[in-house]
Amino acid sequence: MPAFRFRTKLTVVYLALFLAVMGIILLAFYRSVTTNVEDQTREQLDASARVFERIVNYRVKTLGESVSALAQDYGFRQALGTDDRPTVISALQNQARRLEADMAVITDIEGSPIASLLDGEVTSAMPMISDDMKQLAERDGVASKLVSLDGRIFELVVTVVRAPVPIAWLAFGIELDKATAQEIKSLSPIDLEIGFLYRQGQGQYHVAAATSNADELGGYLVLTKPREEAFRATFLDQEHMFRRQPLVTGQDGEEISALLYYSMDAALAPYDPLVFTMITVLVLSLLLLIAGSVVVARGVTKPLTDLASAAQQIAKGRYEEVETESRGDEVADLTSSFNQMISAVKERENKITFQAYHDVETGLRNRLMFDRMIDQEIDHSDSFVLVLAEVQQLPELRTVLNHQNISELIKGVARRIEKVADTEVARVSTESFGFLVRDAEEAETRASLVLNSFLTPFDVADIVIDAGVKLGLVKFPGDGEDSATLLRHGQAALDKGRGAPRGFAWYDPDRDSSQKARLSMMSELRGGLKNGEVKFAYQPKLDLASGKITAVEALIRWISPTRGFVPPDDFIPMAERTGDIRHVTDWGLRKAIEQAAEWRESGLNLAVAINLSTNDLMNHNLPAQILALLREYDLPAVFLKLEVTESAVMHDMTRALDVLNMLSAMGLALSIDDYGTGYSSLSYIKKLPVGEIKIDKSFVLNLAKNDEDNILVRSTIELGHNLGLSVTAEGVEDEESVGRLREYGCDVIQGYHIARPLPPAELEEFLKESEYGPA
Ligand code: C2E
Ligand code: CA
Ligand code: CA
Repeated sequence: MPAFRFRTKLTVVYLALFLAVMGIILLAFYRSVTTNVEDQTREQLDASARVFERIVNYRVKTLGESVSALAQDYGFRQALGTDDRPTVISALQNQARRLEADMAVITDIEGSPIASLLDGEVTSAMPMISDDMKQLAERDGVASKLVSLDGRIFELVVTVVRAPVPIAWLAFGIELDKATAQEIKSLSPIDLEIGFLYRQGQGQYHVAAATSNADELGGYLVLTKPREEAFRATFLDQEHMFRRQPLVTGQDGEEISALLYYSMDAALAPYDPLVFTMITVLVLSLLLLIAGSVVVARGVTKPLTDLASAAQQIAKGRYEEVETESRGDEVADLTSSFNQMISAVKERENKITFQAYHDVETGLRNRLMFDRMIDQEIDHSDSFVLVLAEVQQLPELRTVLNHQNISELIKGVARRIEKVADTEVARVSTESFGFLVRDAEEAETRASLVLNSFLTPFDVADIVIDAGVKLGLVKFPGDGEDSATLLRHGQAALDKGRGAPRGFAWYDPDRDSSQKARLSMMSELRGGLKNGEVKFAYQPKLDLASGKITAVEALIRWISPTRGFVPPDDFIPMAERTGDIRHVTDWGLRKAIEQAAEWRESGLNLAVAINLSTNDLMNHNLPAQILALLREYDLPAVFLKLEVTESAVMHDMTRALDVLNMLSAMGLALSIDDYGTGYSSLSYIKKLPVGEIKIDKSFVLNLAKNDEDNILVRSTIELGHNLGLSVTAEGVEDEESVGRLREYGCDVIQGYHIARPLPPAELEEFLKESEYGPA
């Protein structure tokens, strides 16, 4: 776990720092203590050495005094004077005992031994009394010297015995033994040890006596030559401070020293409680530090651990915010940024998921989601009905309503459908919605409810909108086994529903096949356009002011050898859907222009109006194409009129306007066809480069009987005039209507009452005979 590692690291760093500082302190402490102790010890050793020297001198002096006194002693001299050796020995013994001397020697003046005592006993061993000692003794009365004998060291005091001439040499020796060493030691304030050493020349040191561990010291000195100045060395596994105090170096090459040494451990012992206290303090603070740094590290790492595990959760797609106890520190800042990030990510992911399955405009489920709904329904139920509902006139509405209004309208539509469908509604395409009905029996009722719900207009941003709806119904299983087929067949049912009086239709497999047959009709149409099966009929347009026919509308007539007469309404919408309308337009433009040019040549000045469809208005090449044809047939532009429906323009206003503006600039007269069936207001039409509106025949056909139509037609004419537009009424079937239209000030009328659409020859005939014939 990374957090743990971090925490450990933090603790380790603290500890290392602490230990380093403590180490430095301890080292400094130790150094100062040891140097202090060393200095003290060195001083003590020096002092002790001096004391030692003084003691020895003192002892030698007192012994010397006693010895010289003895040498004057009459009795003693008398005893010596006798040759009685036992008497001499006895006297010597007495004196040695009195002087507490360990050794006594008497020789004749030549140096030949007379008697020698060691520890009160007669012995043959005796120390050498050197000549320089003898000289000193003769001069000063006594001479003293340290000498070694038999592994022991003695303070030897020599004097000459006179009677009155010198007759003998007398010497007494006091041993520098363990007791002497201890005596000196007891005078020292510190617990030092003393040993007495001797050696010959540069030879090895021997230990004559020592306060303790004489044997070990002897063994030790085999390896080490002790120096005069104080030095440290390990002895008996302990640090010691040594110092050798030379006592005598004789001409005979004998060297005698005292070795003073002191255990540093002992010297340091007084500091032990201090050291112990320090170690206790160290250990305690170490524990405190560990505990403290663990707490601190946890304080830091706990939120980090939380963040880390939250991050891991995010990776698994679980977004949870992290709670923190820390306030106002960096960790809290980090946590809150992290939480902000989480909620931002969460929000964005929700949004993305939502967008993937929902329609952006309405927030409804989208086609993808609907597919899933269908698939789920297929999996879970035996049967159901898929209903597609298509809002009519949506393209027209888009031009008058802004984007926001449209989405509001669509949402309103969705809500209504949802309410009556009583289930989830999805947006399947821009104009259609879909929902599923579990109970097949109920499907038609639901469809009717949806239709009825649209009878009430929608109220969007204070605009009252009449929106229509058409429905298509598909059964599962029956009409399809998978969502794709069901949706495709639903679309077919919707196509049928568009034309159905009830407003909805079930999927009809037969119709679907006839639909297929119709598709083959398109290829036949393409053939018919080439081989002359397709012709134009021309319907006159009567100008009421002049009472003359100045224009005709070209209406397509297709007499198929296999199908017979096919009404334009049966193949034009389909050609628009399949794109074949392009061929119809290409053919129609050439035909109309050719005919107009022909009539003009024969002196008949008739403008020809032709119908354009949505696709044509989306075609930027159309103006150039028309221009080329007009030039080819040398026809002035005024003889060609173009009729477009509102819905064609509103499908894509900007593109349509581009094309229309160009056509208008070319001098072509443009008309809005089927006016009144769409939703465009006149003020909106005003923005288009059109000079004429054609009131749809549905308002005109019953003009003689229907009062409402009269009001509508009349006001439309007035409004059109106010906007400077010419108004044409089509579908005029009776004289009564003509009268009304004339009364309302209508400019042009067109209808069966004047003439049906006629082949060119018949039209020419009609014009010749009719009172309306062109001037
Ligand atoms: P539209 O442009 O509205 O044409 C007028 C329709 O009303 C024509 O139907 C015409 O025969 C009919 N009509 C004229 N006077 C009367 C009348 O007094 N009473 C009645 N009941 N009907 C009348 P048609 O020829 O069947 O054409 C139908 C539609 O087909 C046309 O409607 C037009 O939208 C389209 N269409 C016809 N020819 C062409 C063409 O060459 N190109 C394109 N794109 N569409 C065409
Ligand atoms: Ca027309
Ligand atoms: Ca029309």
